Amino acid sequence: MYKFTLEWFEEGRKFSRTFSAGDQTKQKDQFLLGRDESQCDIVFKDSAKTVSRLHAAIVYDPQKQQLLLKNLTSNRPNPNPVIVNGKAIALESVPLSSGNVIKLGRISITLTNLEWTQTQQVYGVRCRNGHLVPYDYIGDFCPHCGVSLQGEGTVIIPNPNQLNQ
Ligand SMILES: [Zn+2]
Repeated sequence: MYKFTLEWFEEGRKFSRTFSAGDQTKQKDQFLLGRDESQCDIVFKDSAKTVSRLHAAIVYDPQKQQLLLKNLTSNRPNPNPVIVNGKAIALESVPLSSGNVIKLGRISITLTNLEWTQTQQVYGVRCRNGHLVPYDYIGDFCPHCGVSLQGEGTVIIPNPNQLNQ
């Protein structure tokens, strides 16, 4: 599990937002950055339009346990640069760490407080709203949203401990 904060300035105001694993985002395990509210999780006003409508993504890589930054404009004829710590990234993804400065157009975003926590929790069921809940709750109600865990849309997740035996 992970958690991170993004800080940036726009129109003389400081913005700070914290994100974590399991947050509801437009695409699972991705945090999309750009000007378009309908496509992005992190939206910049950027009245000068130096940031693209859909510009970059912070993507969780579960294999490497890393957060990667991707330039989502790289397949365009004229990509809009994404600059991390002064280096422009095009096709490759760059692993992020605390203190990194990401530049989209004229906006500088600082990534801070990146934390990783190991979770020992074994999940047994996913409610129809997507919450992961321990086995103890099977047949009960989701502790996050209260829907029945017997109802339609409930998914039973195989126990990895049992699969390995
Ligand atoms: Zn739920």
